Amino acid sequence: MMDKDKLQLLEDNYHRRIDYLRISITDMCNLRCIYCQPILTTGWKSHQEILRYEEIIRLASLMVNIGIKRIRVTGGEPLIKNGVIHLIEELARVELLEELSLTTNATKLAQFAWPLKQAGVNRVNISLDSLNKEKYAQITGGGNLNNVLTGIEEALRVGLDPLKINVVVMKGINDDELEDFVRLTVDKPLQVRFIEFMPIGNLGISWVERYLPSFLLKERLANYFGLIPTNSLSGNGPAEYYRINGAMGRIGFISPISNYFCSRCNRLRLTPDGHLRLCLGMESELDLKEPLRQGASDDELKELVMQALRTKPTGHQFHLKQPNGRQMAAIGG
Ligand code: SAM
Repeated sequence: MMDKDKLQLLEDNYHRRIDYLRISITDMCNLRCIYCQPILTTGWKSHQEILRYEEIIRLASLMVNIGIKRIRVTGGEPLIKNGVIHLIEELARVELLEELSLTTNATKLAQFAWPLKQAGVNRVNISLDSLNKEKYAQITGGGNLNNVLTGIEEALRVGLDPLKINVVVMKGINDDELEDFVRLTVDKPLQVRFIEFMPIGNLGISWVERYLPSFLLKERLANYFGLIPTNSLSGNGPAEYYRINGAMGRIGFISPISNYFCSRCNRLRLTPDGHLRLCLGMESELDLKEPLRQGASDDELKELVMQALRTKPTGHQFHLKQPNGRQMAAIGG
């Protein structure tokens, strides 16, 4: 039995306590979102390059052992990966892990909501950028909106709560739908979060032309609906929350560009090929797969993580340099 008081705590050079790990279990996705992975620049990583489930579980366990409390499984699209429920079950068993969540495009959620809940997932985030069938298909490179809506209904039915809907807002593409998204929160306990478009990877559209800062959206929605600020719930991270009068759900704004929140960053990312990514917006990474496969001990791997943490940047520099080495799907959003 591990003793909670003996945990080493991960803290970086700027006194940020790091307790959140996002694990991208695959770079593959069944959608081709224009702002994420519109084209395959380098092809999928080979089976051999990708961490095996037992390797993911080992790295996750030792990182929980040094202070990670929450893990989010992401991708690529995690629900297209064979055996994902088995992985979730194993992660849910990691001693002292306080929360296990998952991010998905929800195209397969109708089938997976209940197995995920049973396997131990606490929360699910869903990416959905249009409520219009044709536009959804255009943004996602052929996705079927009905599958997503059915997935959302099923997730609500099985009690995956709170259910967050993430919308990447792009000028001239889906910014005409903000009010429709807000209306979703009226009679459903959904948290709709508008995320600022970030310049990561090789995008299919111009970031400069499509980026919209959250304060403009907030102003428009406040004029239209009236927005009531609400308290943050645990696990909310950097989102700023509001609700409209009488609504069951809430609206959030996530503003990595206009409201630089890196001083509160508490996260690390593990890429599908086993690299520890220290900052979403900077390319510095530490390869953990190589030492893992060369037989490094748990203590040696923990030491590597702690050393890498000392080089975690103060914050992203999207305004200076676009990190285009990896697509978002190969980092873990
Ligand atoms: N396939 C899953 C999904 O669609 O949710 C998980 C992976 S996806 C890369 C994770 C998140 O990254 C999504 O919420 C997506 O909207 C976000 N994302 C990807 N590229 C982005 C960008 N350029 N700017 C802002 N968010 C982005």
